[in-house]
Amino acid sequence: MEIQTYFNRNFHIEPTNICLYTCSFCSYSRLIKKREEGWEYTMDDIMDIVHKYDDQPVTEVHIVGGVLPQYDVKFYADLFRDDQGPQT
Ligand code: SF4
Repeated sequence: MEIQTYFNRNFHIEPTNICLYTCSFCSYSRLIKKREEGWEYTMDDIMDIVHKYDDQPVTEVHIVGGVLPQYDVKFYADLFRDDQGPQT
C-alpha cells in the first residue's frame, strides 16, 4: 500500500492585529494592550505581500486578523478581485 501525504502551500496575511473586541481568551488583539505593537495594512501593503509569492506554487492564502471598520466587505471584495491575485 502506497502512503501519500497532501498539504497546502500557503502563506498568511494578517491585515491588522488591532481589534474592537476584547474576547477574554484573546492574546492577539492590540487595541487595549500594547497598542504601539499594532499594525493596519493598506490594500497596497497586502498586495505587496501577495506579489512576493508570484511564480510560487501557492494553493491557499490564509487571511486572519482583528476586526476594524475599514476592513469591511467592500475592502475584501476589492482585495479578492481576479486581477489582483498572485501571478502564477
Ligand atoms: S482578534 Fe478575534 S479573538 Fe481577538 S478580540 Fe478580536 S474578535 Fe476576539
